[in-house]
Amino acid sequence: MSKHPHDHGDDHSELDEMDLRVRALESVLTEKGYIEPAALDALIDTYQTRIGPRNGARVVARAWVDPAFRDWLLADATAAIASLGYTGRQGEHMVAVANSDDQHHMVVCTLCSCYPWPVLGLPPTWYKSAPYRSRAVRDPRGVLADFGTVLPETTRIRIWDSTAEVRYLVIPQRPAGTEHLGEEELAALVSRDSMIGTRLADAPGQGSQP
Ligand code: FE
Repeated sequence: MSKHPHDHGDDHSELDEMDLRVRALESVLTEKGYIEPAALDALIDTYQTRIGPRNGARVVARAWVDPAFRDWLLADATAAIASLGYTGRQGEHMVAVANSDDQHHMVVCTLCSCYPWPVLGLPPTWYKSAPYRSRAVRDPRGVLADFGTVLPETTRIRIWDSTAEVRYLVIPQRPAGTEHLGEEELAALVSRDSMIGTRLADAPGQGSQP
């Protein structure tokens, strides 16, 4: 584990310290009446579940409708994703992995919270939590069940451990009954969690998941 490369500038200890400083600042600003904690929470939620992951969802939808793009994405995710305009820190070396009936992919960062910011935005709290980081490797089916995801016993599960060098994007399977949908409608079915691999893409009319 000591070889696990996590030498990025926002590693665990610095994140903790930053977190403490942000919380202290937030309390002071709240006491003085400058900010509303509820408004801040709403802002963070927006980046975690709405704006950020919409980029990844568009990448997935394009891969669903365009086989050449899908091939490119699987061969060189960094370049394919950049062609849609999604580039930046924590996304310099992307790898895309595609789910199938035989193989399901799930992403974790066992040591901290490495996450592909340009396509998924900010990591959700559970992704950074110790239980997810340890159980994803030890008991992936148990974790999936907690998310309401039950896969056939014949589906193998592969866990990808994010590092400072490589960030992963899961391409969920295109749901059945979506042949008539356009790219934007398809993207709406691609939840954040389906691109981490803890859920499947939403079925049409299911209502959107995080
Ligand atoms: Fe990490």
